[in-house]
Amino acid sequence: MTIELENHIDPMLFPILEKVHDPEIPVLSIMDMGVVRFAQMINSVAQIKITPTYSGCPAMDVIGEDIVEAFAKENIEAKVSLVLSPAWTTDWITPRGRESLEEYGIAAPLEENADKEALLNNKRIVKCTNCGSVNTKLVSQFGSTACKALFKCEDCLEPFDYFKCLK
Ligand SMILES: [Zn+2]
Repeated sequence: MTIELENHIDPMLFPILEKVHDPEIPVLSIMDMGVVRFAQMINSVAQIKITPTYSGCPAMDVIGEDIVEAFAKENIEAKVSLVLSPAWTTDWITPRGRESLEEYGIAAPLEENADKEALLNNKRIVKCTNCGSVNTKLVSQFGSTACKALFKCEDCLEPFDYFKCLK
């Protein structure tokens, strides 16, 4: 997947895209999120295609506007469009993105392909961002934003956010 994506992203545009961050998780660039599917200069216009992390996630509109703004600062016109298929999954978050998430105090899924069912059935797929224990419990499907769920660690008793933008 990663290799295929790199072919569609002009390396010259990479640094500009790196400056755009997820409005809900400021530590994560949209490249780390893995939402950029395509970025090429076509007839002097940067054509950017992004895949929403979560249907109805209001952050995506903001990301589109932020991309246009980031390119405008470089005097480049950008057009942003959405690609809905294949759907984004948390597997697309880069290893560096996962590290940033954990440092920021948001748990990334332990298992690749961790699905929503596993999350809702309280299977132990989420690691405490405070102590690293997997003895954690879903407290609320909705954390500080719609894209996060609230978890609590049963060992250190700390509550923490889980990034639930799953497939
Ligand atoms: Zn803990």
